[in-house]
Amino acid sequence: PYDVLIVGGGPAGAAAAVYAARKGIRTGVAAERFGGQVNDTLAIENFVSVMETEGPKFAAALEAHVRAYDVDIMNLQRAKRLIHAEEPGGLVQIELENGGVLKSRSVIISTGARWRNVNVPGEQEYRNKGVAYCPHCDGPLFKGKRVAVIGGGNSGVEAAIDLAGIVEHVTLLEFGEQLRADAVLQAKLKSLPNVTVHTMAQTTELTGDGNKLNGITFTDRSSNTSRHIELEGVFVQIGLVPNTEWLKGTLELSKHGEIIVDAKGQTNLPGVFAAGDVTTVPYKQIIIATGDGAKAALSAFDYLIRTPAP
Ligand code: FAD
Repeated sequence: PYDVLIVGGGPAGAAAAVYAARKGIRTGVAAERFGGQVNDTLAIENFVSVMETEGPKFAAALEAHVRAYDVDIMNLQRAKRLIHAEEPGGLVQIELENGGVLKSRSVIISTGARWRNVNVPGEQEYRNKGVAYCPHCDGPLFKGKRVAVIGGGNSGVEAAIDLAGIVEHVTLLEFGEQLRADAVLQAKLKSLPNVTVHTMAQTTELTGDGNKLNGITFTDRSSNTSRHIELEGVFVQIGLVPNTEWLKGTLELSKHGEIIVDAKGQTNLPGVFAAGDVTTVPYKQIIIATGDGAKAALSAFDYLIRTPAP
């Protein structure tokens, strides 16, 4: 068994692995996709001390840093169930989708989050047939075409700026009265000639010809009129959902589905810690997730030295 088993290999999981391994304890990381959301990120300019980098480069650096230590990396492994220890200090088990079971004296969950669906007709039907969630993955597919981005937060505006450099035209739809992105992003967006912004716009349908997407319908909430725009792609950028479905009924979750942790990253189960975007810790950012992963690993180590095995 492991001393510390980390589930999730994003910034939080990678930081937890480095911190745990540096204590000389048996450390494993099981991750569906090592690197996590960072793989889908373009420019990163807010990881303090790194002036500027790119997501895939950052993800590769995370993995290299973990590989510099004696850590078992189990990539492309999806956890499907957590089984808590039967007695105090006992082994926690993680059941994998492939049927395997990993045992550990302590577990750190850092399974992150994923994009929220807009839940209108056409979204599922035209998924990957015009409906996309990852501009950095799918942007080039829409080269020279017309797209819309749903959502005027940082993700939506980042996506619109990114796509504007590839596609012919970007329409950005924001439900509220104004964009919610950082001022610097809004300024950049406004400087682009091929972007149109509609605020007070509620998306009602993603239309198509049965095979692929051909447009978006939205209600202009200020005039209460319905409008339709012909286009080839829609990027949904309206927030993140924590990856905790597999933990329902075992760990205490918030009403948003986030794992409830205390200041040390401790969950409601002894020996089980959590870190990063999957938790109630506010502000989902790389630097916060990494700090959080480090904290959870130190808490797990503290737990191990204080808790005798049964
Ligand atoms: P994640 O990165 O989500 O990693 C989760 C890990 O868990 C992955 O390895 C995943 O495969 C794995 N996993 C999930 N479910 C399971 C399971 N059941 N079993 C096993 N493994 C599982 N932040 C910034 O600070 N600066 C930025 O510029 C920035 N830009 C961003 C741009 C985009 C497009 C996106 C999507 C995010 C951006 N972020 C940015 C946010 C940042 O990427 C996240 O805050 C950060 O990645 C969170 O790290 P994490 O380790 O908590 O989770």
